[in-house]
Amino acid sequence: MSEQHPVLKYISAGAWSLVEPLISPRASDLLTALTSFMENDVLPAEKLFHAQIPSYPPEARWASIPPVLENLKIKAKKLGLWNLWLSGGDFQGMAGGEGGGLSNLEYALMAEIMGHSAILAPQATNCSAPDTGNMEVLARYGTPEQKQKYLVPLLKGEIRSSFSMTEYGVASSDATNLRNTTALPDSSNKALRVNGHKWWITGAGDPRNIIHIVLAVTDPNNPSPHKRHSLVLVDPRAKGVKIVRPLTVFGYDDAPEGHCEVVYDNVEIDVDSGVVGGRQGLGRGFEIIQARLGPGRIHHCMRTIGIASRALDILLQRVSDPNRRTFGKHLREHGTVLADIAHSRAEIDQARLLVLAAARRIDIAGAKGAMQDIGIAKFTVPSMALKVIDRAMQVHGAEGVSEDTPLAYYYASLRTLRYADGPDEVHIRQIGKNELKGVDKLRERTNKIKKESDRLMKENGKSKAKL
Ligand SMILES: Cc1cc2nc3c(=O)[nH]c(=O)nc-3n(C[C@H](O)[C@H](O)[C@H](O)COP(=O)(O)OP(=O)(O)OC[C@H]3O[C@@H](n4cnc5c(N)ncnc54)[C@H](O)[C@@H]3O)c2cc1C
Repeated sequence: MSEQHPVLKYISAGAWSLVEPLISPRASDLLTALTSFMENDVLPAEKLFHAQIPSYPPEARWASIPPVLENLKIKAKKLGLWNLWLSGGDFQGMAGGEGGGLSNLEYALMAEIMGHSAILAPQATNCSAPDTGNMEVLARYGTPEQKQKYLVPLLKGEIRSSFSMTEYGVASSDATNLRNTTALPDSSNKALRVNGHKWWITGAGDPRNIIHIVLAVTDPNNPSPHKRHSLVLVDPRAKGVKIVRPLTVFGYDDAPEGHCEVVYDNVEIDVDSGVVGGRQGLGRGFEIIQARLGPGRIHHCMRTIGIASRALDILLQRVSDPNRRTFGKHLREHGTVLADIAHSRAEIDQARLLVLAAARRIDIAGAKGAMQDIGIAKFTVPSMALKVIDRAMQVHGAEGVSEDTPLAYYYASLRTLRYADGPDEVHIRQIGKNELKGVDKLRERTNKIKKESDRLMKENGKSKAKL
């Protein structure tokens, strides 16, 4: 094992020793470049990024992109740290020779490192949601024209996009409920008219956004509730699109991207160019969103571990401040503080192994084959990170909930991951059901063991045992 690899500043030696044999020389070099990019460029630029987002007037927050981000993008491209999420297979070569082609396992390590600056690093390297999932949809299902018009500029980092699914006033975690947004033929039967009311649409406030991928009902009378919807492409600058308001998460607006309430009022789209996959894509909305959500869900988990690690780094430095003593001791000398540190380290390291295992499983069995591993990570990792951040806030006293450390923002943004891409309960329900699928075989195996156990007891003249 290479004991000196810079990745060890971010990832435990145990996890690295497990995965290192599966990491290619190219990925190893990229990991080295990424750690140095994080430390020399991204992390020092965080404060400036926030400072370059105007605070007044409110609309100015949505009107421009902090220049420091664009500079980081140029540098990341030069270093080959571009589109790293773009795993092999289907996407090989699509990144225009820049980045991509890594395994999910290799990307998992990089995404964790980027999580140390989740606000800046994923955007700087063109690895941020919701664009990555949207690019995946367009790459897998888009027509050649749709790829040219939207996928290519997304891959180059020139435009941004939204995924528009959750409906205002509708319990959207059960996607079969979604019906307030339709894309139905107009009277001329030549075009579709999109009407609907969505909310929490990430990126819809971004001035670079030129495409919403909208889940809409196109075949309301189809007997199968899973074949009634399609994904349609709506340009947010088109007539009839209204960005009603940016929503806030515990007061944070996430400008200039935002999470917006959006109304589509009679927006005209063409069937061939405006439905993902053209006419062939009609009725395939659910099939396509499943393909989108697999890897995207795990990308969030990978970054989340990085955020939790950064929170622990902040905690460690605070409790080691020589000027902070309470009840005759430095903070680090109190038993509860030591326990908080130990629990945090243990929980981060456990979660990392879970996420790496899920990533490896995607490499071997595809996103579908890895659904159980992805689902478990999806509902455990954000809660783990929230616990670590909560401990980090606690050792800061009141400062922990202020804007003087990034902890309150981390807490707010990770709390949303317990809903985004499906609430915890929906994943827990699915994992529980999957586990029960194996119960007949488990019973069979147990009965076989019991028979052998009874035979052994009889052979040895025994009838009872205390277990
Ligand atoms: C910051 C943020 C960004 C987001 N970005 C996007 C985006 O870009 N695009 C988009 O379309 N959506 C986005 N969302 C919306 C998110 O995907 C939805 O909030 C989520 O799918 C849940 O839907 P809902 O809010 O309608 O909750 P509901 O469906 O109303 O569910 C409410 C609650 O019911 C409970 N529940 C549901 N099912 C079960 C069950 N089986 N068993 C027990 N309890 C259950 C859960 O506690 C759940 O939280 C975002 C949300 C946030 C907070």
